[in-house]
Amino acid sequence: MPPRSSPPKAVFIDLDDTMISAYAKVHEHWTEVLHEHAHHLEDQAVPDVRDAIMEASRVFWSDPARHRHGRLNIELTITNIIQDGLSQVGLKQDRLAHHLGDHFAAHRERKMHLFPGVHETLDALRAAGIGLAVVTNGPARSQRPKLTRFELADRFDHVLIEEEFGAGKPEPAVYEHLLATFDVDPSEAWMVGDHLEWEVAAPQRHGITGIWCNVHGHNVPDHHAHVAPDHVINGLEELLALLGLDPSDEKA
Ligand SMILES: [Mg+2]
Repeated sequence: MPPRSSPPKAVFIDLDDTMISAYAKVHEHWTEVLHEHAHHLEDQAVPDVRDAIMEASRVFWSDPARHRHGRLNIELTITNIIQDGLSQVGLKQDRLAHHLGDHFAAHRERKMHLFPGVHETLDALRAAGIGLAVVTNGPARSQRPKLTRFELADRFDHVLIEEEFGAGKPEPAVYEHLLATFDVDPSEAWMVGDHLEWEVAAPQRHGITGIWCNVHGHNVPDHHAHVAPDHVINGLEELLALLGLDPSDEKA
């Protein structure tokens, strides 16, 4: 890592589940949504239907190529995953899948929130003269509104959304573009995010410092056991301690 006396010139930061709570509580969200629709589930118990949908989801998203296509067509993808899950427990109801998909999306939207200290951290980093980019995968129609809703867009020098840019993490083009945009050497850049491959291992292959932001306190999954983050933080505000900055620096 760079010594504290030479802080990064640019910090690239993931959005979902790094700055805002977005997708990590899927188990809890499905439990709540299915309980509200229990009367549509025939004889199936909510936990069984939930587990079937979550297993269908796990299988779908485990393939990187499918993941890329699926996240850019997210509404259709979620409906298809729900249909798969429902059919596993003998519920072949396309209308129910659409209905649950809409309800799940609305439920998750309502539950989204900014993590504490994010605005203060970004403002302190900017006040210290560090260039900031938000780097998020997915379509503009889902990611842009979140940047506006949580008052994040104006806090960044550069916004990179996968669909708009034409490539997403962990593709090399993303990191090459970020380094060129800020005109920095990889040793002068940090990437921060909750995904150990996309935001730690991938940028490290370019020489960028990879920081794992483990807000939800997850264990390292077996398939990422080989990844060695340069730092692990439990929330974005811990960047300030790594850099020897204080939140009040924003007022300086
Ligand atoms: Mg994320």
